Amino acid sequence: MNRISHWIDGKVVESTSGRSAAVFNPATGEQSGAVDLASVDEVDAAVAAAKAAFPEWRATSLSKRAEILFRLRELVDANRKEIASLLTAEHGKVLSDSLGEVARGLENIEFACGIPQLIKGEYSEQASSGVDVYSIRQPLGVVAGITPFNFPAMVPMWMFANALACGNTFVLKPSEKDPSVTMFLAELLAQAGVPAGCFNVVQGDKVAVDRLLEHHDIAAVSFVGSTPIARYIYETGTRNGKRVQALGGAKNHMLVLADADLDMAADAAVSAGYGSAGERCMAISVVLAAHEIADDLVAKIAERLPAIKVGPGEAPGNEMGPLITGEHRDRVRGYVDGAAEGGATVVVDGRTDVPEAGYFLNPTLIDEIRPGMACYDDEIFGPVLGVMRVSGYQEGLDTINASQYANGTAIFTRDGGAARQFQFDVQVGMVGINVPVPVPVSYYSFGGWKASLFGDTHMYGPEGVKFYTQAKVITSRWPDPATSTVDLGFPETR
Ligand code: NAD
Repeated sequence: MNRISHWIDGKVVESTSGRSAAVFNPATGEQSGAVDLASVDEVDAAVAAAKAAFPEWRATSLSKRAEILFRLRELVDANRKEIASLLTAEHGKVLSDSLGEVARGLENIEFACGIPQLIKGEYSEQASSGVDVYSIRQPLGVVAGITPFNFPAMVPMWMFANALACGNTFVLKPSEKDPSVTMFLAELLAQAGVPAGCFNVVQGDKVAVDRLLEHHDIAAVSFVGSTPIARYIYETGTRNGKRVQALGGAKNHMLVLADADLDMAADAAVSAGYGSAGERCMAISVVLAAHEIADDLVAKIAERLPAIKVGPGEAPGNEMGPLITGEHRDRVRGYVDGAAEGGATVVVDGRTDVPEAGYFLNPTLIDEIRPGMACYDDEIFGPVLGVMRVSGYQEGLDTINASQYANGTAIFTRDGGAARQFQFDVQVGMVGINVPVPVPVSYYSFGGWKASLFGDTHMYGPEGVKFYTQAKVITSRWPDPATSTVDLGFPETR
């Protein structure tokens, strides 16, 4: 049985906590490994290693840090397939999707290679007579990342690339459901030349998370996961004096206006609704269809679903894999059961013809969903797309703005004015215009609004650099000592 342990101070460290969790292959339902669950002492050892490594790492020159990141970029690039297959084996997503995840993660390492440019401060000569003022950004110290199961490679890369580039040292607590990929990344970081102790992985559950949240030597916490846990992380971390960015769940709407190209909209809804079996925080889960085109759009989405190839992620040609666990699959099924009982119409029923082994559910389409139904109100996180019919732009917009979640949204239209108005009006952090999954490129930043993000700073990109650094402003003068006098007045600048 494959045992997945910690990575502390540059090497694999087996846990002595006596606690572990089973890791499964979701495509077969068979156990493939066991992951160690850290004790408080093991978290403390990782934090101590990161603390000890910090002084030398923060003093490492920017060009040296960039050189190491460039090497890491080459190593991740050369090992894309290996990373993707580790990911598919424990997450279940199809290989092409895993490769896409690695590619989008890699963009964040590429961004961080530009750290000498990104971390530049500002300088004002002669702010007052003979006085110069300048600002610098310095690392925070030891920072922690706590990551979800659905992007076990990309989300850690969102965090550690910028955190390390800025001169911090890092402790990662990955999801216990698919932990192997982070151990492989840890080896690549070491090969790239990241010194021992700068990057650590503690495998674990709530015990590890809670220790990170209370540990005096952790300066900041980045979290990605579900909304209830994000809220808990934000409240606990900030109460303990830490800087926290906590990204939560989502319920992303796609508004299709009457003038949209319906084939394009149907392709987009299917791609964004069922990609990664709907286990994406940027998945589209509700299509808001203008009344005039709703029947046609539902028909076009429905006719595309039987063609989706569902099966084990590693088999070439499959387009949609299983869900992460049997428990989660049952929960998703429960939403479909509830929708049918609550008066919605199950147009394509993915509960049928499901393989016996593994945690599969076929693509499901539900029409006539409404706020107040659990399948509308809750994040389902599965291959279930709901359609709600709206009178047009205004009802669609009002529906989106009434949601507690505000991660991503999209509008499909050929009317540029309507699209621009939507961008202006919509209360959501990431917006697609004829783009169904508008995950920002790495040189912008990622983050939702409302219950999809707790904290002030979005993740990665320029806001990532801001999150992982603190500003210092220096006021400096080199006067002639002969001109020195005592002056108790408040310093003026003119
Ligand atoms: P999760 O909240 O269950 O777990 C996330 C992390 O928190 C894991 O490392 C887990 O071990 C830890 N955790 C779980 N329960 C905990 C507890 N009670 N106390 C302390 N720590 C705990 O999320 P998940 O199921 O792994 O991931 C799916 C969720 O993540 C979805 O809600 C999805 O929308 C969200 N997500 C959001 C984004 C985003 O950018 N907004 C991106 C990816 C995933």
